[in-house]
Amino acid sequence: MDHRRAVLTPADPAIELTLIAPVKDEEAAIGPFLDRVLPVLDGLYPDRPGAFEILFVDDGSEDATLPAIMAARRRDARVRAISFSRNFGKEAALSAGLDHARGAAVIPIDVDLQDPPEVIGDMLAKWREGYEVVYGVRTNRETDSLPKRLTADLYYRAHNYLSDDKIPEHAGDFRLLDRTVVEVIRAMPERNRFMKGLFAWGGFRQAAVEYRRVQREVGHTKFRYWKLWTLALDGITSASTMPLRVWSYIGVSIAVLSLLYAVAVVIRTVFFGSDVPGYPSLMVAILFLGGLQLISLGVLGEYVGRILVETKRRPLYVVRRKIGFGEGEEG
Ligand code: UDP
Ligand code: MG
Repeated sequence: MDHRRAVLTPADPAIELTLIAPVKDEEAAIGPFLDRVLPVLDGLYPDRPGAFEILFVDDGSEDATLPAIMAARRRDARVRAISFSRNFGKEAALSAGLDHARGAAVIPIDVDLQDPPEVIGDMLAKWREGYEVVYGVRTNRETDSLPKRLTADLYYRAHNYLSDDKIPEHAGDFRLLDRTVVEVIRAMPERNRFMKGLFAWGGFRQAAVEYRRVQREVGHTKFRYWKLWTLALDGITSASTMPLRVWSYIGVSIAVLSLLYAVAVVIRTVFFGSDVPGYPSLMVAILFLGGLQLISLGVLGEYVGRILVETKRRPLYVVRRKIGFGEGEEG
């Protein structure tokens, strides 16, 4: 049985918009986030207070994030939450958010207010025009450090060169998704949830909305370079088999060249006789080929490792507790 099917929350016709906010150790950010977001949403739905919900996904926080969410829920019942049994990562948190969202449109948003909630109005406007995906494009990246900016640039270039599904540059996870798109993404069976890649693969009518990404208001970034590197590898290997295939081309080229070289050596020996025994060239050839083989084995390993992970068919995340989902769940 598909685990993710089992936890599906059916769409609620009364709810038009679900904000999904993944949170990991953000106790200080919950309050300011709601103080800023609720007025914006109330302004967008002046006479339909029940037209939106805010769904927090507590990604295994070790601080008082969950109590902060519970306190917020006591003040405003439109706040709901899912709490993981441990940290599963932002991509898993977003998957859980999509599984439990009830709105006709869904917007993942960072809780640190780096994605300005004021843009939500623009996104909804585009959505009502008929676009199924409205992604936010950052007009600035100064808030990221220079190395992060450079590596991000390099990454987008590499990904879009290698893969047929182009990721829009400078677009983060802050984007509006129509229910139909959410269902398509939920139906994707793979465990490797590189969200930007999944969105790109899904297609649909897409529009962009520009915004300025500001500095984080409270707390500090949860992403380390190693995590980002892993994410980049996931993105490329899940979207393209090019790194796998390129080695067979290189292998063929080298084989052909060495065949030609062998022919040349034979001809030279026949006509001019052999000179110094070819120990150095032999070593070079062995080492060179050995190195190549190791690299290609490494690339193979990358893919085989991913096959292994996919075939385990483990659930993407484990929910410890749901808050605001009806009978018997709270407490
Ligand atoms: N986050 C999460 N799980 C993680 C890491 C981060 O749910 O393992 C959340 C985090 O709480 C925040 C969002 O993802 O709401 C973006 O994280 P952050 O601001 O640290 O990333 P950055 O903006 O630096 O890329
Ligand atoms: Mg941030």
